[in-house]
Amino acid sequence: METKEIKFNPENIDLALAKEAGDILARGGLVAFPTETVYGLGANALDEEAVKKIFLAKGRPSDNPLIVHVADEKDVEALVEEIPEKAKLLMRHFWPGPISIIMKKSNKISDYVSAGLQTVAIRMPSNPVAREIIRAAGVPIAAPSANTSGKPSPTEAAHVREDMLGKIDMIADGGSCDVGLESTVIDMTADVPTVLRPGGITLDMLEAVLGEVHAAKGSATQDEAPKSPGMKYKHYAPKAEVHILEYKTDATNALAKLVAQAKQDGHTVGILTDDKDYMPCGAQVYINGGKTAEEYAANLFDALRAFDAKGADVVYAPLRWQDPIMVAVRNRIYKAAANRVTYTEE
Ligand code: AMP
Ligand code: MG
Repeated sequence: METKEIKFNPENIDLALAKEAGDILARGGLVAFPTETVYGLGANALDEEAVKKIFLAKGRPSDNPLIVHVADEKDVEALVEEIPEKAKLLMRHFWPGPISIIMKKSNKISDYVSAGLQTVAIRMPSNPVAREIIRAAGVPIAAPSANTSGKPSPTEAAHVREDMLGKIDMIADGGSCDVGLESTVIDMTADVPTVLRPGGITLDMLEAVLGEVHAAKGSATQDEAPKSPGMKYKHYAPKAEVHILEYKTDATNALAKLVAQAKQDGHTVGILTDDKDYMPCGAQVYINGGKTAEEYAANLFDALRAFDAKGADVVYAPLRWQDPIMVAVRNRIYKAAANRVTYTEE
């Protein structure tokens, strides 16, 4: 299949181009488009055949449900049994934005979308390219991240091209994604609202609006989150073996030892940096994670892909930040590292 690539200026959206993308979706095709979290791989959520194509293109296990994206709050009503009052509060505060809200699904949502669950996750993205494409399609859009299952999520059109060229109808290039991590997923069908996947909307932001909020096992720490089916799979993994080093003030000595050992074992070693200078550690490849936790979150998936391109086969990621967004960052990078973590008091 030929994949058409089109370029958007997010500051000045070409509505004719958005219509072209929307028409493909409405006819049952697949279009990858940017959102504020990561690039999504969209299909008409009301068209079972179209939805099946998403699972094929990604190699996604069929028991991993899809998030349904809408352009307007009023489009939610038809997709769910009812909208709980607290879900309305969330929409008012955080939509459009990086949070997916789980509610009881209506009979419009097929088992392919919900992976057999009685619930559906719904989000209204804020990225203007995403909004215009969804609006132009005129239907709700099921869209998981536009990567091959198991690989780091795409935060640039080039990442989507790497994984999806020849497998989908169109890639809409709208530049880099702002947040760079997938949406917060919150279950509003539980007695107490429960975060199943941490993201850009953090636990304290949610508690400020909802009062008590639970964090499912794994959504506040690095462990697994069994209630969100997608979280049980191998995830975000580059080819390189990633190791985390949790440190307090200065990781240089501990890293230098780890790097020396890995080099002695014949590895090409990379370091994913934070705001410190790790040059004295002797690694061969350095990739800049960012100067702040927000920058690090936005760069993470791109950096993980870049280590493969630069030939590092072992990567160390020193971490010390505890900013709220780091809950989501650690959730992703611990998975990429298959929970290989070393702690130092240094
Ligand atoms: P992705 O769109 O690839 O980032 O994955 C969507 C994430 O949302 C996965 O972790 C899914 O398991 C989760 N998810 C989507 N719908 C539901 C649902 N109805 N119940 C629980 N988790 C869901
Ligand atoms: Mg994904």
